[in-house]
Amino acid sequence: MSAAIRQEPAVDGWFATDDSGAPHLIGAKCPQCGTYVFPPRANNCPNPACDGDQLEQVPLSRRGTVWSYTENRYAPPPPYPSPDPFEPFAVAAVQLADEGLIVLGKVVDGTLAADLEVGMEMELTTMPLFTDDDGVERITYGWRRA
Ligand SMILES: [Zn+2]
Repeated sequence: MSAAIRQEPAVDGWFATDDSGAPHLIGAKCPQCGTYVFPPRANNCPNPACDGDQLEQVPLSRRGTVWSYTENRYAPPPPYPSPDPFEPFAVAAVQLADEGLIVLGKVVDGTLAADLEVGMEMELTTMPLFTDDDGVERITYGWRRA
């Protein structure tokens, strides 16, 4: 039996899990013009043609399609936490199914750029990002092939 590991989001308020444990991103929506934004914020509608200044928090689609992707083959410089030795990983810009919003995220380990193509169905997941000084595993959202 493995020891229980405490997990906390690396950033609060960007994603949540529903009762079944399925993660979704949290976005903001302008009630005046319907524009979505991620990461969520409380005001300042991103639509330049709209003067809306009260955004509502909304759950975003769990699925989308690959809009673009790349592969990171170099360890990012500190303070970004990076495993040692560094393992290349893919990053995908996924267009959310309902909102049309494009959300950039890391792709799960084991899936590299050669495994991806534009238009491919992706699903939101969560993954460990790093373990902090208190031994808490910090998790972030990411994408996997649906
Ligand atoms: Zn607006």
